[in-house]
Amino acid sequence: MRPCRLLAVLILAAPVLGAQLPPLPPPSAPGDVTILADRVFDGAGHIARGPRRIAIAAGRVTATPQPGARVIDLRGYTVLPGWIDTHVHLESYFDAAGRIGTDTTPTPALLMGMADNAYRTLLGGFTTVQAVGDPADRILRDAIASRGLPGPRILTSLGWIVMHADSLDETSLRAMVRAKRDAGADLVKIFASTSQRVGAKPTFTEAQLRTLCDEARALGLRAMVHAYRSQVAVAARAGCSQVEHATYATAEEIAEAARLGTVISPQVGLVVQNYIANQDRYIGVGNYTPEGMQIMLRDLPLDFEVCRIAAATPGAKVVFSTDATAGAHGRNAEEFLGRVEHCGQRPVDALASANVVAAASLGMGDRLGRIAPGYEADLIALDGDPLTDLTAVRRVVFVMKGGVVYKWVGRPTTGR
Ligand SMILES: [Zn+2]
Repeated sequence: MRPCRLLAVLILAAPVLGAQLPPLPPPSAPGDVTILADRVFDGAGHIARGPRRIAIAAGRVTATPQPGARVIDLRGYTVLPGWIDTHVHLESYFDAAGRIGTDTTPTPALLMGMADNAYRTLLGGFTTVQAVGDPADRILRDAIASRGLPGPRILTSLGWIVMHADSLDETSLRAMVRAKRDAGADLVKIFASTSQRVGAKPTFTEAQLRTLCDEARALGLRAMVHAYRSQVAVAARAGCSQVEHATYATAEEIAEAARLGTVISPQVGLVVQNYIANQDRYIGVGNYTPEGMQIMLRDLPLDFEVCRIAAATPGAKVVFSTDATAGAHGRNAEEFLGRVEHCGQRPVDALASANVVAAASLGMGDRLGRIAPGYEADLIALDGDPLTDLTAVRRVVFVMKGGVVYKWVGRPTTGR
């Protein structure tokens, strides 16, 4: 076991055992750094070419290089703001038997799996993720934020809000949102449709969604809504912040969501392909059935179609997200290739969807998504130019988050 993984187990297992963990200084504090670069993506739509120095102090990008700063030479690579994935499931992991984990409490195995997923995601170039899967995300989020555990910055919904027979009146709906806030959630995730694997049927009504999303907004939380078919436009009209998947929605329904400013979050490049590749590890658990897998595979072209409609709608906020589950963590960048191949996005737009578009969707557009003074020093470097060869997104050679370097695998030096 690598030392940092062992550390992960120890740190993450402690709360389960009842120990209180005070914040600790991270094992490697961010120092002053000057990065030399000659190809830098601005996070929005442009790659600047030519010599440039990026100054970093106290974990943030600054206007002027600090004297005596450590120099990191990234010339010859493409430097980008760290990527943001707005929809991942870090709680989804393969257990010791190679099967999808089924833990309902934060067991050491689950927490180990989550730490592993987080580390892979970070090394894949993703310095911020929105984890919308499990109450245990809080343990991981806080260990990364306050103890220096290696992983992306995490925002979490601490699980989902789903329809219950006893949760239909306004007071109960508002209470469900408040309970998430009180537990420490950064956003809420609402299931407005059942899973695609069991029919993608509507659950909450527009009035109920408005109550949930209103309450979230009043508490300063964003509301992400899992929605298919007409529930996409319903969630948008209800004032919710972001709709996920959007499969089976019509062009008019997607256009309506776009017009209302709702962030649209389709997935085309990774999640279904990963389910199919690993189906033997999933089938037999929950609603993972052979039939469910076939529905996802059969309807993948419809996911592509939804993405194409959204991307072609003027003004639509099409954000980067993967819905990554076990087997997909660390390969989140595959979604960029899907966005271009299946959705018709230009490479530059696909890249921006994981930088400025994603940062804005999180309400963090003044801290994340760009390389500019005052922004978090979240930087990655690719071997290659993704605008001319998009497969460069698979070749992440450098990862810095908050001024700390987590990965730097430069070209081997030859000769001398
Ligand atoms: Zn999901």
